[in-house]
Amino acid sequence: MVNVAALRCKECSREYPVSAFNVCDFCFGPLEVVYDFEAIADIASRERIQAGPPSLWRYQDFLPAEHNPAVDINAGFTPLIRSRGLAERLGLDELWIKNDSVNPSYSFKDRVVAVAAAKAIELGFDTLACASTGNLACSVAAHAARAGMTAYVFIPSDLEHGKVLGAAIYNPTMIAVDGSYDDVNRLCSELADQYAWAFVNINVRPFYAEGSKTLGYEAAEQLGWRAPKHAVAPSASGAMFTKIYQGFKEFEQTGIIGPVETRMHCAQARGCSPIATAYEEERFVIRPVKPATIAKSLGIGNPADGYYALKTIEASEGSAVIAEEHEVAEGIKLLAQTEGIFTESAGGVAVAGLRRLVERGVIRRDESTVVYITGNGLKTTEIVSDVARPILIEGTVAAFEERAAVRA
Ligand SMILES: *Cc1c(COP(=O)(O)O)cnc(C)c1O
Ligand SMILES: [Zn+2]
Repeated sequence: MVNVAALRCKECSREYPVSAFNVCDFCFGPLEVVYDFEAIADIASRERIQAGPPSLWRYQDFLPAEHNPAVDINAGFTPLIRSRGLAERLGLDELWIKNDSVNPSYSFKDRVVAVAAAKAIELGFDTLACASTGNLACSVAAHAARAGMTAYVFIPSDLEHGKVLGAAIYNPTMIAVDGSYDDVNRLCSELADQYAWAFVNINVRPFYAEGSKTLGYEAAEQLGWRAPKHAVAPSASGAMFTKIYQGFKEFEQTGIIGPVETRMHCAQARGCSPIATAYEEERFVIRPVKPATIAKSLGIGNPADGYYALKTIEASEGSAVIAEEHEVAEGIKLLAQTEGIFTESAGGVAVAGLRRLVERGVIRRDESTVVYITGNGLKTTEIVSDVARPILIEGTVAAFEERAAVRA
């Protein structure tokens, strides 16, 4: 990769060669990918991006892995939809919905896994693995199936049926750990030391995280090469949230778009809100919590990138917002019934958070806003099963007219 210079510790700036390695030997800080942005600025252009494939690989110049068709399931370049009904309901003039629920395995996780899996193959791995809150397991299993790789996916034992099935269908080895995501992650961190596997969100995490930048690039491209005034995104580890902003800033830095004035707003659910609570209490130290939320895909009590999410909020003059547990299903229904988009619990958190931000006056009517809808509602049907009540009739016109017809 001509544009990738090294891995670098986010804390002490020590540099490491590009390899499957995620923690600094000296200070235990997380490593991130360093690019040669001068080289990128020399070659990258709007025209070059537009000539690329209709997937996240159109941003190849900004990514740390080479596009590999053998593992590609066509993640990214999802629709950015101008909201009508929801915007009107909330009193916004320019609301956009980034519908990432229509990725190949039905969540934004296909972006991060696309990059991590391509890199894992480059680095010589034949096994993909992950510690997952659900969607990541689906995506890792799907990419491994496509590439003919072995997959081990680890999940908490209390996940929604749609996520267990949505991963199991690709036939990975699936391990349900009796505990929370944080227990799963702890186990996987130990396993990553002992097995020569690419744990996408552990030892190859620096590459994995880069995939989320494409949520920033894409929104900017689809808005006609500009960043929005506000972006609202649901957070678990905080990685995606941090990287969306980095995506906007890299486009600015390389001259693809003009000045970025986006304010980043992080949404979490009451039952697992370590980042938003730290924000509200004005501290940069994350206090881990035990997740107890209906939004299981966001159930990370000890968020690896929580601190960096708080830094992103600070740098962008953004905020964090907490959706009450009962507002999650309301948010899902509101989006479905105003826009025709069926999202999972994380999307419900984003919509509920957006509503609060408008009510608080943080987002004003005339300010352009993108809300990130990151997963598909068919994976968390339990939460909204109360809507599934068809009117049961005998198959006659009379029965229909008696029970259901609205007559003029
Ligand atoms: C994983 C996930 C997120 C949050 O991702 P982080 O990078 O861990 O903050 C958001 N939405 C959905 C649907 C997810 O699966
Ligand atoms: Zn360090």
